[in-house]
Amino acid sequence: MGTCSYTKDGKGCSETAWSRCAEGKCVFHSSANGEDAAVAAGVWKTARLRAQSGPADFSGWHFPVDDSGFMGANFAAGVSFSGCVFSGDARFLNAQFNGDAVFDGAVFRGLARWGHIVFSGGLSARGTVWSGGLQSGGGRIAGKADFSSARFRGDAGWGGMHFAGRVIFDQAVFMRAAVFLGTVFDDDVSFGGAQFKQGAVFRDAEIGRLADFSGAVFHGPCNWAGVTLARGHDSLLNLVEHARP
Ligand SMILES: [Zn+2]
Repeated sequence: MGTCSYTKDGKGCSETAWSRCAEGKCVFHSSANGEDAAVAAGVWKTARLRAQSGPADFSGWHFPVDDSGFMGANFAAGVSFSGCVFSGDARFLNAQFNGDAVFDGAVFRGLARWGHIVFSGGLSARGTVWSGGLQSGGGRIAGKADFSSARFRGDAGWGGMHFAGRVIFDQAVFMRAAVFLGTVFDDDVSFGGAQFKQGAVFRDAEIGRLADFSGAVFHGPCNWAGVTLARGHDSLLNLVEHARP
């Protein structure tokens, strides 16, 4: 048996290797943990328990398909999902994070259901891949939110999200719809070098300070109808001519 073969930044995993994992990983890190319903249910049971117990490290975990996921979960403290894979829809509806949350390099294979999600601290999602789209209506992020180099392969639905802190979408790629319908940005937001493959919708959004679009590329139209700009058109920095309101 021995311990799990997963390592991250030179640090190993202390869980016991799972006999059914060909790569010698534990049941939480094994990409085979969704093949057996009882095993999958056990992984989720442990995940939900750890989430509510204190700081939780889910780095590199493989989350199998589940009907409830982290719906309504209350994360007691800081949590890391870096390098995780959510193989089905990632259900975080009504989830509450009471500490900083890290999703760097995580992969969402299905739809990320983030409606009414609340982050009391910051959110880091650098290089995160959202393959199946994102829904985040009614959510709120209190601290800094960093989506540098994130890849949105499905529709990026940021409509109705309230960003209270600084937001960074530098070098992010929006392959499909980038929807910021009614999104509220209290602080600065940066889209430096971002690519909007199908344009963007900022309809009814509120830009409370500055939105910097240095090097951002729009391959489709940009909809600014009803947008509130705290500093008028001076709120929008370095935006290419054809994307301006
Ligand atoms: Zn492990």
